[in-house]
Formats: sequence, structure tokens, C-alpha cells
Amino acid sequence: MQVIYGTEILDASDVRISPWDRGYQFGDGVYEVVRIYRGRMYAMDMHLNRLRYSLGELRIPVPEGVDRLEALAERLARDQGIDEGILYVQITRGVAKRTHAFPQEAQPVLVGYVEAVPRPLEEFERGITAILVPDVRWHRVDIKSLNLLGNVLAKQAAVERKAGEAIFIRGDVVTEGSSTNVFLVRDGVLVTHPTGHHILNGITRQIVIRLAKELGIPVQEEAFTPEALFAADELFLTSTIHEVTPIVQVDGREIADGRPGPVTRRLQEAFAATLPL
Ligand code: PMP
Repeated sequence: MQVIYGTEILDASDVRISPWDRGYQFGDGVYEVVRIYRGRMYAMDMHLNRLRYSLGELRIPVPEGVDRLEALAERLARDQGIDEGILYVQITRGVAKRTHAFPQEAQPVLVGYVEAVPRPLEEFERGITAILVPDVRWHRVDIKSLNLLGNVLAKQAAVERKAGEAIFIRGDVVTEGSSTNVFLVRDGVLVTHPTGHHILNGITRQIVIRLAKELGIPVQEEAFTPEALFAADELFLTSTIHEVTPIVQVDGREIADGRPGPVTRRLQEAFAATLPL
């Protein structure tokens, strides 16, 4: 299996990750997941902008490989016959003797790979269930960092309760899902948590907000409570992998009549129309 390492493509078995890599020791790095449709990277510019933002917030220099990433990923997708899939890419601060503060000598390490991931069409159609969990993450989740323990524990709780996603509650507001952004529809208005330090500004979130505005659906980027979530007319999540997926039940309680709603359907269709399918 071939992977991206810096500016090159290598056999995975030839890549040597150091035990002193700061990604490994501190989670000191960032990542992106990009959708591949028909072998091409979708919304790559938006992902690269967010990657540069995450690197900038952590003061990790942008490594050379970033400029070649799209070309290398498309080559890998072609070689591996991947039509629908994802690119995973991570950049760590690099390798240095262990000390918390930034080391002088570290060079960033970029690793990436592609893999086949089909569109979850059944979930788009039927919707998924979710649970609510406390948002125990740090206060800079706008940075797409490798520190994902809060997200990992939340998703594990969902799996153990046979739910599809865990939705975070911080104080008395709904922030986002463990790997998704969350939207509700109330009286025809789309509501989602505003950008800032307490959500990741999802690429799919940004595209869906733009599409909603184009369709004349009013959008409010305002925090909402769990009570508002349970009282919503419709609820859905967005992400690179899950696109626009209805949420039909939360903590065992049905949202409205427990079926995907009309605004969600319109946005699913509008989103699908942006894809090179
Ligand atoms: N929030 C979190 C915590 C995530 O991990 C993700 C997935 N990257 C998202 C939201 C959705 O972002 P995107 O639409 O860019 O995949």
C-alpha cells in the first residue's frame, strides 16, 4: 500500500515514524479528511485553507508537501482504483527530544493516504439516531488537531448505546457532533451553532449554509439548547463523510414524527447537486 510522505509517494512499509514524533507523544499536530468523488478531491481549496488555519494557530510551519497534496492524492486514488473515498492527511510538529515547549530543530512531518469509503446512502435515506453527551473537550476545537480523546470517548459512548452519533452539550447549548456539525430546523429556519472556539467550522457546514441561503431558507448561526433540539421540526448533521444526514431520534426520543423532514431533503438534494457524481 502506498502513502504520501512529505512530498513523495512511498510504500507504507518504507515509512518510519519516530517514537519522538510530537504527534505521537503530545498529539502535537493537525489533520484533514477530504472527500474523493470520481477520483477527484472535493472542496480541496476549503480543506487546504482550514489546514493552513490549524497550522497557523499552532505555529507549525506549512510543510512543502501541502502544495503537492492534491496531485499526489489524485495519483494515489487513480493507482488504487478509488472512485469514492477519502484522503486522510496529518501534519505533526516533527521529531525532537521530549519537552513540552516548541523545539527549535523540529521539521514538520506530513503523512497521508487514501482509502475507499462509499457514500452512506442508506443513512441519507432513513436517518440515524444520536445521544447527548457533555462536551468535555478543550476550548479550541476550531483547530482540527490530533487531540481527539473527547471525540473518541463520545463516539464510543454512542456505539455502546447503539446510536449513530454523539452530540456535545457545553453548558446548556448544543455545540456539534463528535465528528459532525449539527443543524435544526424550526418554523422553516435553519439554526446551527456559530463559529468560534467551540465548534469545528465544517466544510460541509459552510457549503450547506451557502446552499440554504441560495434556496431562500433563512439561516441563524445561533446556539440552541437541548430543549430546542428535542422540540425541533427537523434535525440533521453534516460532515465530509456523512454529507447531510437526518437525525431522527435523540436519547430514544423521536424528533418530530421520527422521519427526515422536507428542508433536510431539499438540502440533501442541493448538496448532491454540487458533487461530480
Ligand atoms: N466537527 C467535528 C468535531 C469534526 O471532526 C468534523 C469532521 N471533520 C466536523 C465537525 C465536520 O467537518 P467537515 O464538514 O469539514 O468534515
